Amino acid sequence: MTAPQPTTALAQLALALPAAQLLTGPRADAYLRDQSDSTPAGTPLAVVFPASTEQVAAVVRVAAAHRIPIVPQGARTGLAGGANAIEAGIVVNLTKMNTIVTVDTVDQTATVQAGVRTYALARAAAAVGLFYPPDPGSWKGSTLGGNVATNAGGMRCVKYGVTGNFVRRLTVVLADGSIVHTGQRTIKGVSGYDLTALLVGSEGTLGIITEITVGLLPAPADASGVSATFATTEAALAAAAVIVASNRRPSVLEYLDGPCIAAINDFDPESRLPADAAALLLIQSDQAGQAHADVEEYAQILKAGGASTVSVAHDPEHLDELMSARRLLQPALQAARGSSLNEDVTVPRSQLPALLAGLTEISRELAVPIGTGGHLGDGNLHPVIGFDAAVPAQVDAAHRAFARVIALAITLGGSASGEHGIGLLKKDHLDDELGPVLLDLQRRVKKAFDPDSILNPGKKL
Ligand SMILES: Cc1cc2nc3c(=O)[nH]c(=O)nc-3n(C[C@H](O)[C@H](O)[C@H](O)COP(=O)(O)OP(=O)(O)OC[C@H]3O[C@@H](n4cnc5c(N)ncnc54)[C@H](O)[C@@H]3O)c2cc1C
Repeated sequence: MTAPQPTTALAQLALALPAAQLLTGPRADAYLRDQSDSTPAGTPLAVVFPASTEQVAAVVRVAAAHRIPIVPQGARTGLAGGANAIEAGIVVNLTKMNTIVTVDTVDQTATVQAGVRTYALARAAAAVGLFYPPDPGSWKGSTLGGNVATNAGGMRCVKYGVTGNFVRRLTVVLADGSIVHTGQRTIKGVSGYDLTALLVGSEGTLGIITEITVGLLPAPADASGVSATFATTEAALAAAAVIVASNRRPSVLEYLDGPCIAAINDFDPESRLPADAAALLLIQSDQAGQAHADVEEYAQILKAGGASTVSVAHDPEHLDELMSARRLLQPALQAARGSSLNEDVTVPRSQLPALLAGLTEISRELAVPIGTGGHLGDGNLHPVIGFDAAVPAQVDAAHRAFARVIALAITLGGSASGEHGIGLLKKDHLDDELGPVLLDLQRRVKKAFDPDSILNPGKKL
């Protein structure tokens, strides 16, 4: 195998792209990593900003010819190190591909370039009376390409499902630079294997997604919501379980523990979450014709379950305030200690009490602060482990706690990652979850797509 020839590759990239779309040296520094702490990032050969699928393909052909690693990159809001630059690799940042190509009201689909922000798609759909439900906490910044590549979730998954449930068709640049379209614009289609599903959640390791067609829904009703605080986690979980078992379907069922509430109130002076509670539940309904009644019934269930405070909101302003505060979970906890390791464990809902009890035990035994919040209705929580990166004992304890939390989730029949992805952060734990046979099968799938392993090598698997 001939060694990579960086200078020649750089010269070829300069021929493939206008100068303004190619960054090298210190000018590339802003694009080295995502929002995770403790994940390594290399110094790339170049960061490129293609403006079309053809330009992406031209870049990939240069990389393939020289066997240079490629890191597809969206808005770098990822929390697992998946978008971090690789030493001497090429970062392909898709954020310049930010055109909403069509919103089709007849077929109820939208087609967007990969760099379109999630919130921009949601607004474009809403402008014509349609609805794109996936709403990761980062939705004002994250891109659709990143959402598809991580199979992002959000607050509304409990009712509507994750990004992958809405993806119909992808335009993808493969590892040899060829351009393919997987899936179809229709609701159904079973020709060949479902490669669209395989690419969803592939974290840039199987292809570079350049265009996405998603299915849309009719707009829901204006949401109504209720928040409630509890003196114990157990009481909050029991009340949430009664709501899930009822014949009404919440569109949001979120959880924050005491440390999260305190961190969010400290981080954002505008936030006025009720202090001094052990747990807070945020519940909404957007069901046409019955959102109001749903929420009134949820309020009764919460009161009967021993909530200390119950606050119903039928106005969008108050609901937005609560949801905005909830979206601060990750940055607020990160700020509280300087650095954080962000867990994304998911367990069957029946195992949530065991998960939360186990987190308390791990926090106590290893003397690490853990604040936990997230998508209770999905069984997907984000324990955030705080540490001071300048204190080696704290770094070590945080990493040990991180491993124990993942092991606990797997023991409870769950997974290391519900929505953030594996990236670099959780790679060491994949074997425990998949086992050697499945891991080998997955590596052979990767080899079929990317025989020379140039697409985000060392991430995910
Ligand atoms: C405050 C905050 C809140 C968050 N809340 C949520 C949440 O509620 N739910 C959730 O799921 N996540 C959440 N996240 C994590 C993150 O926003 C998501 O993982 C998001 O999908 C990443 O999108 P991005 O455009 O930033 O992608 P990046 O971080 O740039 O990349 C993420 C991964 O996707 C790959 N990738 C990116 N674009 C492409 C492409 N076009 N083709 C192929 N591969 C690509 C990258 O290589 C990388 O592996 C949150 C993050 C923050 C900071």
